[in-house]
Amino acid sequence: MLARLRFPVDRSRGRRYPEPEHPYRNAFQRDRDRVVHSRAFRRLEAKTQVFTPGLSDHFRNRLTHTIEVAQIARTLANVLQLDEDLTEALALAHDIGHPPFAHAGEEALNGEMERFGERFDHNLHALRIVESFELRYARFPGLNLSFEVREGIVKHSHDFAAGESPLLDAYLPGWRPPLEAQLIDPADEVAYNTADLDDAWSAGLIVAEDVSEAVPQYREIHQAVETQFPGATERERFYEALRQLIDLLVSGLIEGTVTAAEASGAAGFEDVRAHPARLAQFTPEAGETSRALKRFLYTRVYASDALGSDRRLSMARIAELFRFFLASPERLPQPYAQQALEAPAHRVVCDYIAGMTDAFFLRTYELMLSPAAIRPLS
Ligand code: MG
Repeated sequence: MLARLRFPVDRSRGRRYPEPEHPYRNAFQRDRDRVVHSRAFRRLEAKTQVFTPGLSDHFRNRLTHTIEVAQIARTLANVLQLDEDLTEALALAHDIGHPPFAHAGEEALNGEMERFGERFDHNLHALRIVESFELRYARFPGLNLSFEVREGIVKHSHDFAAGESPLLDAYLPGWRPPLEAQLIDPADEVAYNTADLDDAWSAGLIVAEDVSEAVPQYREIHQAVETQFPGATERERFYEALRQLIDLLVSGLIEGTVTAAEASGAAGFEDVRAHPARLAQFTPEAGETSRALKRFLYTRVYASDALGSDRRLSMARIAELFRFFLASPERLPQPYAQQALEAPAHRVVCDYIAGMTDAFFLRTYELMLSPAAIRPLS
């Protein structure tokens, strides 16, 4: 397949702080293990993906979503004969920079930072976690990950040009990341589009016929399932169709990537970097299905009234707690209170809140702002 484009682990630009090699794990395998053992990774369990817990015990959280992305990304890397360890490390790390309350949290923090001419970006935050905030090693701050993993963390969802951010300038601006990193964003897209359909169906927000109306390829699959399993329950038919939809999207991604790689003439990983566009891509048909799913989920799920009230409440609370700590940085725990004396307080407050789980955020909010009993999100 694309073994010629695999990023060779022995060509890594290495770690910031040199370390002796491990006897039987290569650099990318160690990076993957370091991500799994980080605190930021464990916190994913208590961070919302899309649906806040309460209505069901079966909704994805950011950890189970991450595991689904890793599973899809590993399959892709394996079939395409790319480096599965690098791909897995990046998939496991791809959401560790997410604040509490999913995109509502990100939007709220970004809104607060914009008042200071800055922004909150979860990929940049993830880089700072693995570079500085994780304190587990006596020899260095952070996880001391290989260059390509750090590069993939900041580049997995978009490329950037030189001068965009001083933090990013060390990560080959203007160049594409290795193909392994390029797989993460479309693998994430397959995972969340299909998982959000599943969770929205479980929440009773949608039925299969709604998806059929909006997404032609889903309609074909669902009709075939009805013919094939006439006695199946609605639930069984929905899950049969959902599994086939994942398969169709993953297969479309494999085929699209192979086609793009062949058309590019790329003969090695350096050519992947130099190519003007990313090579990891869906076939046109699978890409259209993915976009149709996104449009459907946006109108019927993400922007629905059911999710809207939680979202507005979460955003308002994050803004409120941000402003509280900004006005009273001495109420921050150590070492943040000390940092707020030495660095811009808005940056310290943003980092503190961004690291919180949903539950820790609510406890802190209650402690600082709402002595009266505060209801958890429904
Ligand atoms: Mg994700």
